[in-house]
Amino acid sequence: MLQVVQVEKYYKKNKAVDGISFEVKAGEIFGLIGANGAGKSTTISMIATILKPDRGDILFEGTSIIKKPSVIRKDLGYVPQEIALYTTLTGLDNLLFWGNAYHVPKEKLSLRIKEISDMIGFDEGILKQKVSTYSGGMKRRLNIGAALLHQPKLVVLDEPTVGIDIVARNQILDAILKLKEMGITVIYCGHYMEEVEKICDRICMLHNGKVIDICNKEELLTNKEINLENRYLQKIGQANL
Ligand code: ATP
Repeated sequence: MLQVVQVEKYYKKNKAVDGISFEVKAGEIFGLIGANGAGKSTTISMIATILKPDRGDILFEGTSIIKKPSVIRKDLGYVPQEIALYTTLTGLDNLLFWGNAYHVPKEKLSLRIKEISDMIGFDEGILKQKVSTYSGGMKRRLNIGAALLHQPKLVVLDEPTVGIDIVARNQILDAILKLKEMGITVIYCGHYMEEVEKICDRICMLHNGKVIDICNKEELLTNKEINLENRYLQKIGQANL
């Protein structure tokens, strides 16, 4: 579905992404992990066409999104790390706003809002409350819901569980697994290893802007002596030699 080919990105002289390549297959949850500064956000910002690579290409269903960003935009749901909600508005008004921003046809929007609210566990009462009254976990769930209104084929989430409690975190992970059940492809960016291990089908490790490993769930399950965290630390050790 998505191919990242030899991509490089600089911020002035700082090479944030250093020739990375990986492929995301349709229907999978693809994890992108790495320490702070590894290049995760820069990579997904390029996939979301917010940033342009300096070198390399990114293909969505075979077409370059560098040359033609519109091919991915209508099929992409991007959930940024920062909450993109208007806190003085209600949850419902936020969904209406984002539905219009994503050009969801008016006649479809109420139904989509109902479907999304069910999925993120929001009833009518919650929807009518101002976002400023929501907990951190509720804001994160609504932030995800807003990115799903236009029925994207690919959803990219940038650290969606940062700063929330374990209950809210599990609700978000369940919502992500539901996306996969619905046939939606997910790129999940994070650094909580247990979460990534739990939900991702394949995992790509970034370190200093480079891919240091790509592994799948089966590999991790068959080799029980080494969990994702140990494997990651091992790979970082090798990369730093
Ligand atoms: P985090 O987990 O902290 O979000 P990350 O893996 O997402 O980290 P990036 O945010 O992509 O990593 O950062 C990669 C490198 O690029 C880092 O060295 C960072 O300091 C640098 N960088 C990121 N954004 C900018 C920017 N807007 N201007 C200059 N340098 C940047």
